Amino acid sequence: MTRQLKIGDITVEVTLKHIKNLRLSVHLPTGRVRISAPAWMSLENIRLFAVSKLGWIKKQQGRVRRQDRETPCESLAHKNHYVWGKLYPLTVAESDRAPAIELENDRIWLRVRPGTDQRRRQALMECWYRGQVKEALPPLIEKWQSLMGVSVNRFFVQRMKTRWGSCNPVAGNIRLNTELAQKAPECLEYVVVHEMLHLLEPTHNARFKALMDSFLPNWRLLKNQLNRR
Ligand SMILES: [Zn+2]
Repeated sequence: MTRQLKIGDITVEVTLKHIKNLRLSVHLPTGRVRISAPAWMSLENIRLFAVSKLGWIKKQQGRVRRQDRETPCESLAHKNHYVWGKLYPLTVAESDRAPAIELENDRIWLRVRPGTDQRRRQALMECWYRGQVKEALPPLIEKWQSLMGVSVNRFFVQRMKTRWGSCNPVAGNIRLNTELAQKAPECLEYVVVHEMLHLLEPTHNARFKALMDSFLPNWRLLKNQLNRR
């Protein structure tokens, strides 16, 4: 059971559990305060405990804020990043735990170990974007396999400099650009349809366009949207 306690301007999430002792934590990188308490303990006693720890809580939250501020002004920090067509500000937080990226409270939190350099941060972001595309692909491929009557052997998501995707009709493989995770989801679908259509028609001839028109009538719009920066 989770409840919320308000102490001044601090919100504490209280979870009652079958444990013996109170546990207090300030969550990085968000600065969220949590208390796990024994199930039998009254909310009033938990409040008293939290009040007695207020100094410590504020110190921890100050650390979180300082970390945000002290993030060096590099190209990756203080930059906005698109995720599925929506713009999010990025906050880099340093912490001794394993690196992670989370979308929370309308921002991207990039958690890295202290001293992680710019290249590594960029690599983490790219890996995360790649995971986003990899996760979005299977349902799309499944949907269009049955609509088109084709079968994709394997798919790959990778960094591509000049193209959004490619298809090897002989092997039955398609490749998608990692950066598609920054574009609207409809754009990813457009590229998937385009590449899968090459399993029926390898070239961009009149037949290819006619098939595109029948499967995805608004494909020209999506293509423009995709190539707009
Ligand atoms: Zn093509």
